[in-house]
Amino acid sequence: MGSAAALSSSAATGRIVSINPATGVPLGDVPDMGADEVRAAVARVRAAQPAWGALSIKERCRRVGRFADVLMSRVDEVIELLVKEGGKTRIEALNMEVAVVADLVRYFSKHAPRLLAPEPIPLHLLRHRASYVHYVPRGVIAVIAPWNFPFSIPMGEVAMALIAGNGVVLKPSEVTPLIALKAKELADAAGLPPDLFQVVTGRGSTGSALIDAGVQYVIFTGSVATGKKVGAACGERLIPCTLELGGKAPAIVCADADLDRTAQALAWGAFANSGQVCCSVERVYVHEAVYDDLVDRVVALARSLRQGDASTGEVDVGAMAWDRQVDTVERLVDAAVKAGAKAACGGKRVVGPGQFYPPTVLTGVTQDMDVMRKEIFGPVMPIMKVSSEDEAVRLANDSHLGLLAYVFSRDTARARYMAEQIEAGTVMINDVLNTFGAPETPWGGVKMSGIGRTHSVIGLRDVCELRHVNYDRVSLPRELWWYPYRDRSYKLLLGAMKALFGKKPWRRS
Ligand code: NDP
Repeated sequence: MGSAAALSSSAATGRIVSINPATGVPLGDVPDMGADEVRAAVARVRAAQPAWGALSIKERCRRVGRFADVLMSRVDEVIELLVKEGGKTRIEALNMEVAVVADLVRYFSKHAPRLLAPEPIPLHLLRHRASYVHYVPRGVIAVIAPWNFPFSIPMGEVAMALIAGNGVVLKPSEVTPLIALKAKELADAAGLPPDLFQVVTGRGSTGSALIDAGVQYVIFTGSVATGKKVGAACGERLIPCTLELGGKAPAIVCADADLDRTAQALAWGAFANSGQVCCSVERVYVHEAVYDDLVDRVVALARSLRQGDASTGEVDVGAMAWDRQVDTVERLVDAAVKAGAKAACGGKRVVGPGQFYPPTVLTGVTQDMDVMRKEIFGPVMPIMKVSSEDEAVRLANDSHLGLLAYVFSRDTARARYMAEQIEAGTVMINDVLNTFGAPETPWGGVKMSGIGRTHSVIGLRDVCELRHVNYDRVSLPRELWWYPYRDRSYKLLLGAMKALFGKKPWRRS
């Protein structure tokens, strides 16, 4: 992907130009790497990984922890680049990118030794033996990342993979390569072995070359369409993978919700990062008893937001990172309005330099409209009136995606009951987006939103090979079921099985 300008200007040179989406001004260029360069990067990582994997986990945690030190000491330059290359506001660059990585690095540096410690498995039957599982590095992990959070998504995954003892090759989106190279600069400055973590810049073909370059695991974050290709490529090579794909997060507003908090949460959930968030509030189902009141509040908030280039002053909503994404948003909104929806605010692309779409609230939408079914990935909040909470849950589940979902209610028990009926990887009650910044919680979706989880103990163990060891606590001369097969052994075994598994008066089933 990349802006049309970036693609055309780089075609002849084999380089990709990164563009400031708020101004259209080029920021720099990077090589469009081919398969040979990708294989060479993987080979460098493969050579460096065994020594790294052989260090104690505490030592690896200590060294990866230094990445957070360097990040915080150079926070201003990282934020400046995130604002310039990603079109973000400064607060979003700080909270949703830098802080997420710094906290994740600190969390796993502290807890990974415990989370990856060998675990005994008590055996219920063969008690003269014992089992345990232990976690070993997989080798070289490929991280393929999108443009919407070009720092926090890949660098959280990179840090976890390194702590687990792997080497990593990161393929950033062609829309945001400079921030990935900045991350590599920070990793080098933190004293990590220079060959252990590599960045390969390029387009989709660079990503597919990476999957083909002999890596042991792929963590892919991106669209459903590309995710299917990545899953198929991994399947062909029998490489395990995690797929973090698109979302269409529903928000259900119950009749008893705290409307002030709910309106603020929805506005932030729909418009933060210009709506380019996989867990953005993408559709809202509001109980009819509070519908008018909630819509008024949300529209007033949306109208009050200041949009613009965050490098020139205080703004609430920045630019959209990718020009083609603005076209998608425009197309979805125009089609909805043509089909009878009303833009209560916004609804028309901003004309002028830079890529901006204004915060938009759509009312009068219906469930069959594309704006309620397809991922918008822009600052648009379609709102629909429902007559009951059951109807809201049914509509929330009427989607091929299931990443995040939100429920707003003052009745926590009822909200938790509803949350458990919703088909989503995570359901938040009275809050939005934030669990991506809680590294101990699992991140990932159900249905077409993906396979597997990043973050949490699950994500950490997934970048390891799980190995099982079974050993003897008490050594016997031989086992009863070994050769030679004798009638006496058979009778003994049968008697034991009847005693263990047969019907007993005290046994319920
Ligand atoms: P894409 O699927 O277009 O691209 C993701 C990455 O894959 C990019 O680096 C891209 O490179 C690369 N790529 C493209 N084709 C291939 C291929 N054939 N093989 C390997 N890699 C390839 O997604 P976007 O960058 O547009 O990101 C937006 C999407 O990501 C949205 O759907 C969003 O919901 C989802 N997302 C999901 C998240 C989650 O946690 N579940 C979080 C954030 C975003 P290039 O860009 O150079 O083409």
